[in-house]
Amino acid sequence: MRIERIIAQRLKDINPSPTLAITAKAKKLKQEGKDIVNFAGGEPDFDTPLFIKQAAIEAINSGFTKYTPSTGIPELKKLISEKFKKDNSLDYSPEQIVVSCGAKHSIFNALLTLINPQDEVLIPSPHWVSYQEMVKICEGIPRFIPTSAEDNFKINIKQLERYIGKKTKLLILNSPSNPTGCVYNLDELKEISSLCVEKKIFVISDEVYENFIYDNHKHISIASLNQDIYNLTITINGVSKSFSMTGWRIGYLGGPVEIIEAISKLQDHSTSNPTSISQKAALIALSTNNKFLIEIKEEFQKRRDYLVSRLKRIKKLSFVIPEGAFYIFCDITKTELDSLTFANRLLEEAMVSVIPGKDFGSDNHIRISFATDIEQIKKGIDRLEEWINKL
Ligand code: GLU
Repeated sequence: MRIERIIAQRLKDINPSPTLAITAKAKKLKQEGKDIVNFAGGEPDFDTPLFIKQAAIEAINSGFTKYTPSTGIPELKKLISEKFKKDNSLDYSPEQIVVSCGAKHSIFNALLTLINPQDEVLIPSPHWVSYQEMVKICEGIPRFIPTSAEDNFKINIKQLERYIGKKTKLLILNSPSNPTGCVYNLDELKEISSLCVEKKIFVISDEVYENFIYDNHKHISIASLNQDIYNLTITINGVSKSFSMTGWRIGYLGGPVEIIEAISKLQDHSTSNPTSISQKAALIALSTNNKFLIEIKEEFQKRRDYLVSRLKRIKKLSFVIPEGAFYIFCDITKTELDSLTFANRLLEEAMVSVIPGKDFGSDNHIRISFATDIEQIKKGIDRLEEWINKL
């Protein structure tokens, strides 16, 4: 039978995730013994800290292996509520929090809860690859707001105004941003929030890279600016990136009570609770002092600085120095290759994996991840430099 007859309409034009596919390919080649330098990874290379693993082992040994409340165990929601208050000046009571299977799941829950068919969702572009696919699955329409390197890949209020129409339901804001590394400052957020409040546009604020922020830049949660924008915002975060726990699948969101109640129903009838064991691990991660967070942040600052210093010497590449997250979005126009060809040839000819920019919204860019140690970064850049000079 033809595939069009079998597969539901809403999944017809959905693309697979290139970030996951390429990361998996690089890992597989490495396991096969190939000397690949992985600049594709969207996850910190650090092992999950031992004290977190031990909490999970204890959870298993003590039989904490059954259903939990669907939106998460009360003690974890309480801790997340305290975290939001302490780190983000956000007042979300535990009843305003849903713990899910990764921040990606939290975003998906939020979209599915808010989008009606044909609603438009504004996505500043370049953008993370999954936003538009999730919007499409929810039968909404992704509308990209183009940004440029000159503007540090940030939207401004004039542009935003141009893109808001009758059908606009929400804006997805991702700061620090994957893939560009831009971080919105207070003034920029004030402007964006005032327009969203005026036009009654909801905001999904994806803050999962919060802990990866460099120099003197500061992470600000848009919902903390005032009550009006708070009432329109769902704040997304998770332990995956900050605590190197990507495989544990624990993300969470905070938002207005009515939206949270709807998301809770959705989760009741879809995944139920996120894994009980992972919840115990996340509990320990969030309740301990932030020594690990400081260490990981300092290490990533060093990596970013080193990578930036090396990339500056490669004449055929240009980039904006990332203020946050762990990616550099490199302009490859001068190589005269499209991003897929660039990435494929670099992997085959120089054994370095990067992600093509095409699915992030620019075929003139590639994404280089520095979630790998300095030795690997050095080796990868040596190879990249030599390869590019021969083009
Ligand atoms: N967000 C990460 C990335 O962009 C992890 C992979 C994914 O879920 O896309 O690489």
